[in-house]
Amino acid sequence: MLDNLTQRLGKVVKTLRGQARLSEDNITDMLREVRMALLEADVALPVVKDFIAGVKEKAVGQEVIGSLTPGQALVGVVHRELTELMGGQSVGLNFATQPPAIMLMAGLQGAGKTTTTAKLGKWLKERQKKKVLTVSCDVYRPAAIEQLKTVAAQAGIDFFPSTGEQKPSAIAAAALDYAKKHYYDVLFVDTAGRLAIDAVMMAEIRELHAQLKPIETLFVVDAMLGQDAVNTAKAFADALPLTGVILTKLDGDSRGGAALSVRHVTGKPLKFAGVGEKLNGLEEFHPERMASRILGMGDILGLVEDAQRGIDQDKAKDFAKKMKSGKGFDLNDFKEQIGQMRKMGGVASLLDKLPAQFAQAAQQAGGAVEDKSIRRIEGIINSMTPTERSKPELIKASRKRRIATGAGVQVQEVNRLLNQFEQTQKMMKQFSKGGMAKMMRGMKG
Ligand code: GDP
Repeated sequence: MLDNLTQRLGKVVKTLRGQARLSEDNITDMLREVRMALLEADVALPVVKDFIAGVKEKAVGQEVIGSLTPGQALVGVVHRELTELMGGQSVGLNFATQPPAIMLMAGLQGAGKTTTTAKLGKWLKERQKKKVLTVSCDVYRPAAIEQLKTVAAQAGIDFFPSTGEQKPSAIAAAALDYAKKHYYDVLFVDTAGRLAIDAVMMAEIRELHAQLKPIETLFVVDAMLGQDAVNTAKAFADALPLTGVILTKLDGDSRGGAALSVRHVTGKPLKFAGVGEKLNGLEEFHPERMASRILGMGDILGLVEDAQRGIDQDKAKDFAKKMKSGKGFDLNDFKEQIGQMRKMGGVASLLDKLPAQFAQAAQQAGGAVEDKSIRRIEGIINSMTPTERSKPELIKASRKRRIATGAGVQVQEVNRLLNQFEQTQKMMKQFSKGGMAKMMRGMKG
């Protein structure tokens, strides 16, 4: 996610950190780099200009040049300005209303509205114990109604049926009535999308808005469209009192233009980001954490949250202990970890949140740990004896052959696994040497 932008800005950050002295000249040079990176990321020009002006003003001021570590201070300024650009504080959903809290979902066809409705419904049900009802007002595409029914079932939330013969306003009224009678906390109203903005669609959703007076009117938009996404968001924000934006497909977006500009251009907060096709591919949008990720500093808090969600707490504590001491980490733990990783949304989502230098190490260590090869790895570990698992150094040639035969793989695969394990163990030791504090320092400086 946002790989290109991260790479470009990460490089600038690295150079900067090494600078013992900063002058207006080299600040200007580095700002030129940042400017190029942002333009290449498809960030709208006025946004880039404002951003650069903001950084420059702070950079040439006392804050940076007068500081003991000017490079570091400048990275700090860029980080803060990036955070501000994306809205500063993270803004959650508003529930300050008589239930049901109505969430009106708006957006073009294909943006990911229906998928996002199910994701968000699942999120609210699982994390906030909300009772969630969904309804589709897309009377033009019966397939859209069916799709919502399917994903709602997958998400474990309720679905209020509708048909192509009804009027959107009648559907909405019936669903609201049902939601009130059955004490739902939240009602999601999915609406018809078109391929492009058109007057009829806008009029229809405005009517729904006037009728329902939703507490949240969320605009769902595909991040991969870059500036087009931002322009569409602006058009919707002008026509409809949006309360927030949800960026989808951020997992496939390597440039990041939409993520960086949409707040500035529309004035509406980014509330969530879609990061995968699956129904757990949704994250709250935290501007500060996103800024850290973009600058290659990683998102440790996000990582911790993922871990809290996916991981068995007792095992996590045990693991943390081993990580702290750097001792006792064996192949049993390795296998355990691989399984946990799968629960946490797979390898990619994990690597995304690690600081750049660790992500690289982790990739080397676990490069082959793609979701499909996980089962093979588990197979190999299962073919080992308990003693072998806790003392992998015992595994010499003849044992390797026996394990390979047992797991139905080539000896090379056993070798590869043992190497990966060794790498991971080394990484653990690195983590444990200076503890978390050192790691964080290393990240920033
Ligand atoms: P709608 O027409 O706006 O309701 O869009 P859909 O919900 O049908 O989504 C369109 C396509 O985008 C589907 O194939 C979804 O699986 C996909 N999609 C939605 N959100 C995401 C996301 O965050 N990441 C990825 N990779 N795909 C997504």
